[in-house]
Amino acid sequence: MNIHEYQAKALLREFGAPVSAGIPAFTAEEAWKAAEKLGGPLWVVKSQIHAGGRGKGKFKEAEAGEKGGVRLAKSVEEATEFARQMLGNTLVTHQTGAAGKTVGRVYIEDGSDIKRELYLSLLVDRVTSRISFIASTEGGMDIEEVAEKTPEKILSFSVDPASGISGFHGRRIAFALGLEGAQVKQCVQLIGNLFKLFREKDCDLLEINPLIVDGEDNLKCLDCKMSFDGNAMYRHPELAELRDETEEDPKELEASKFDLNYIALDGEIGCMVNGAGLAMATMDIIKLYGSEPANFLDVGGGATKEKVTEAFKIITSDPNVKGILVNIFGGIMRCDVIAEGVLAAVKEVGLQVPLVVRLEGTNVELGKEIISNSGLNVIAGDNLADAAEKIVKAVKGA
Ligand code: GDP
Ligand code: MG
Repeated sequence: MNIHEYQAKALLREFGAPVSAGIPAFTAEEAWKAAEKLGGPLWVVKSQIHAGGRGKGKFKEAEAGEKGGVRLAKSVEEATEFARQMLGNTLVTHQTGAAGKTVGRVYIEDGSDIKRELYLSLLVDRVTSRISFIASTEGGMDIEEVAEKTPEKILSFSVDPASGISGFHGRRIAFALGLEGAQVKQCVQLIGNLFKLFREKDCDLLEINPLIVDGEDNLKCLDCKMSFDGNAMYRHPELAELRDETEEDPKELEASKFDLNYIALDGEIGCMVNGAGLAMATMDIIKLYGSEPANFLDVGGGATKEKVTEAFKIITSDPNVKGILVNIFGGIMRCDVIAEGVLAAVKEVGLQVPLVVRLEGTNVELGKEIISNSGLNVIAGDNLADAAEKIVKAVKGA
């Protein structure tokens, strides 16, 4: 789960990491009040969207100007005007895709003087199964680009969970970043605080880009991208409140209401599968036969008819879907329940695209019977390969 920069900075503040004073605003009026309260003399007006690259981004609407999603203002009036231009408009950055994202809120911050821009992040390294730090002197840039062009400018190491974080880690980063004097101590403290935040809140990414040395030679987190492990949300009701549903794919949002493991992709074959492993195998075999999956979907072991119906509706609501492959291995899940769910959904939303169903396992005969008696134009798949081949053929041939 992702959150906005201003929410991430509130968490940073709570854990003792240095950030500028700032106030979020949903309207130009609120932006004006926020700017007045902050007092200046320099303000930063920052579009809040769940994507990076805002500074270099461009708005689609002419009224928002060509100046990007992060702007420096020299007066309350200017800050208010920038907020007015951003709010309600669509910001396109290299991370949003061409469609861009609508700015529903802005963050007004005290402007900082910048002496140096650095990079710092924490993430879960899946190779070592540990929390890793990445630090670089090349702040404000895309770290992927730095990694590609000047990998020697990146320091990366993971923290042994048995011995935990220590001053050594912070000093190692401070040294790599070329920090001096009081900054070294600040860095050690910051690294400890960030590590604590990362663990306590079950983060999967915490990126500070840039981390700056400000006009008074102090370290400060100028930008922050934070995301959390969705599977740990049950123990963080305080984080669930930070969720901004307007930022999410509407299909994924709908799926989450029904507790379905659904991820939207950009292929053409909608998949309904039980079990994450089988769902991945289904996506692979669709690719093997020359097409692309439109989604990942694991309906789960104990899915009800209603859940299956909702899943089917979500799949068919995707305009990219040119065919559907239902692949069920009934273990705990019964094939007749799936069959009834599919029928109920088709009755409700209709069937405009070819549908291949492959059923195997518990109550398979009953399931097949329900489908063949339904009078629906369903193509039966005999096994995984056969089903994938048939749906790809049906889509490509159409
Ligand atoms: P991003 O483009 O989405 O990563 O947004 P950032 O928050 O990183 O801001 C983009 C750039 O705006 C930064 O790299 C800075 O160069 C600049 N910027 C942001 N805040 C300030 C500030 O307080 N003072 C100054 N002088 N520049 C800022
Ligand atoms: Mg940034």
